[in-house]
Amino acid sequence: MPIELFNQKGHQCLMFTDLCDEGGEVVQSNQFLIVDGDTGAIIDPGGNLAYGELYLAMTRFFPPQQLSAIFASHADPDIIASLDRWTTTTASARIYISKLWERFVPHFCKPGKTTGRVVGIPDAGMRIAVGRSELIALPAHFMHSEGNFQFFDTTSRILFSGDLGASIISGDEAKIPVTSLAKHIPRMEGFHRRYMVSNKILRLWAQMVRRLPIEMIVPQHGAPMKGAAVGEFINWIEQLPCGVDLLSERDYVVPA
Ligand code: FE
Repeated sequence: MPIELFNQKGHQCLMFTDLCDEGGEVVQSNQFLIVDGDTGAIIDPGGNLAYGELYLAMTRFFPPQQLSAIFASHADPDIIASLDRWTTTTASARIYISKLWERFVPHFCKPGKTTGRVVGIPDAGMRIAVGRSELIALPAHFMHSEGNFQFFDTTSRILFSGDLGASIISGDEAKIPVTSLAKHIPRMEGFHRRYMVSNKILRLWAQMVRRLPIEMIVPQHGAPMKGAAVGEFINWIEQLPCGVDLLSERDYVVPA
């Protein structure tokens, strides 16, 4: 069952947390459905394991031909491996992804399926209408992918943050929003130290998002963060050394 993150005046945000549970062999991933009136969008649809249930859930709100957009934070398999099926079953939904990955996306699909449907998001980001609502594609490059975007829903004020804010948990724990960060840090720290490229980009990101009225930060792995945890997360990540900051000659040695 999806988790309802927001539901007001015909605008809904739903989160799917366990569509790809294969007994611990697959990293837990979240997929998102945004409904606005008789249309909507999917954010980070996931791999083939997630497709069936997400598709079925969408058709309870509107017919597949009315899906207006598929948003991808980056081009990893847990984000868009199911794209061939989505492009087959939805008639005209545009696929929004960094312009760095625009010409890589067709590799996920049968020949011709993506023709004229992929919108390469410029590095600076853009605003995209979904029904009467609007999503902002926010620059999140190198967090972790070179061409990476987060999606801020201006109606619900939810920031769909991709891999940033991810926590390594599974099952029901991923469904419960975290409201205080301290106990949550051990489930995030190792991941962010290795997958985020450098502290410099985390600082730039923190400066940018402090200008937004964020109600909730919802990552692609693990639990959402809301209330005090939103500001606490921004402060924590801003000072975290990570990625290339932590590497030295010791890490680049030819194996014996
Ligand atoms: Fe990734």
